[in-house]
Amino acid sequence: MSRVFNFSAGPATLPEAVLEQARDELLDWRGVGASIVELSHRGPEFMAVAAEAEADLRRLLSVTDDYAVLFLAGGATTAQALIPLNIASPGQRVDFVVTGHWGKTSIKQARPYVDAHIAATGEAGGFRDIPPRASWQLSPDAAYVHITANETIHGVEFRDVPDVGAVPLVADFSSSIASEPLDVSKFGVIYAGAQKNLGPVGVTVVILRRDLLERAGQPRADIFDYRSHVKGESMLNTPPTWNWYLAGLVFKWMLAEGGVEEFARRNVRKSTLLYDAIDGSGGFYRNEVAVPARSRMNVPFFLADPALDKAFLAESVEAGLIGLKGHRALGGMRASIYNAMPEKGVHALVDFMGDFRKRHG
Ligand SMILES: *Cc1c(COP(=O)(O)O)cnc(C)c1O
Repeated sequence: MSRVFNFSAGPATLPEAVLEQARDELLDWRGVGASIVELSHRGPEFMAVAAEAEADLRRLLSVTDDYAVLFLAGGATTAQALIPLNIASPGQRVDFVVTGHWGKTSIKQARPYVDAHIAATGEAGGFRDIPPRASWQLSPDAAYVHITANETIHGVEFRDVPDVGAVPLVADFSSSIASEPLDVSKFGVIYAGAQKNLGPVGVTVVILRRDLLERAGQPRADIFDYRSHVKGESMLNTPPTWNWYLAGLVFKWMLAEGGVEEFARRNVRKSTLLYDAIDGSGGFYRNEVAVPARSRMNVPFFLADPALDKAFLAESVEAGLIGLKGHRALGGMRASIYNAMPEKGVHALVDFMGDFRKRHG
């Protein structure tokens, strides 16, 4: 068996130890004689898996009891629609700070339900920076302010939590959750699809300040109601048990590796190594994001000569590096270097990039 280094943006690489454990217990989960994926979600086995996953995630991110934690299907995109339904009144203003593609998606999903107001956007500059906080046109009566903590496609990341006053801050952390310590108390809602930093696609984590559940929100079906999900412990209907279980294994792996403090150090080392290689390439490679807003998780970069893109991608695959093709919206390349990407993977990428430049520069 030969495993490559996978720089895909999501679904993304998972820790090898987690995949091995899942393989080892796939047919017979801990002596039960059946797979965890074959067992009832209401049985004692899966209930224990679910409860442990929540407890481990709470430990990992230091989530206090003022916050509910949900494990839901539907992806981050569904959360972008459910959040306005649950915590904004019909037509109420919501402020969006748009720093890339996913900020725009969040507006699209909320627009039928609220007065979606763009408080600031980096679009005119091609989403290469975060609009300065002083330029944001926030509304005092907004239901919440929405930001994308890390823009997965544009490679733009908030490096601190913006102060938005008394209005709750809602943040899409899909591609950067658990990559460093996080002060949850500064947020009203944190949500993240799991397939970037937490595990497999198919389960979405929503961390929700409980007082926001007292808001009336909008007419909605019970299955779209976060209060019902909290009451039903994310089991209003059959939850994505396999995905939840795998995410739980990833949480345990992260805790065993040293928690978010350790991943913060690794992620700084990995991203610094890669940005240094790009910046030090004499213009052969370039990243266009303003340095203070550069993402530690997703590093888009371009070759000075796009005619070399095809060769770069083909040769990188030969070198055991996959998933480097940039998002179609931007072109070029993108290296996603989430928690599960080992440091030696980034070293291999940087070595390959140097070698490719020598041969084609
Ligand atoms: C991937 C991603 C999404 C979309 O997630 P789905 O689970 O596909 O709905 C939303 N926001 C961000 C920041 C992402 O990276």
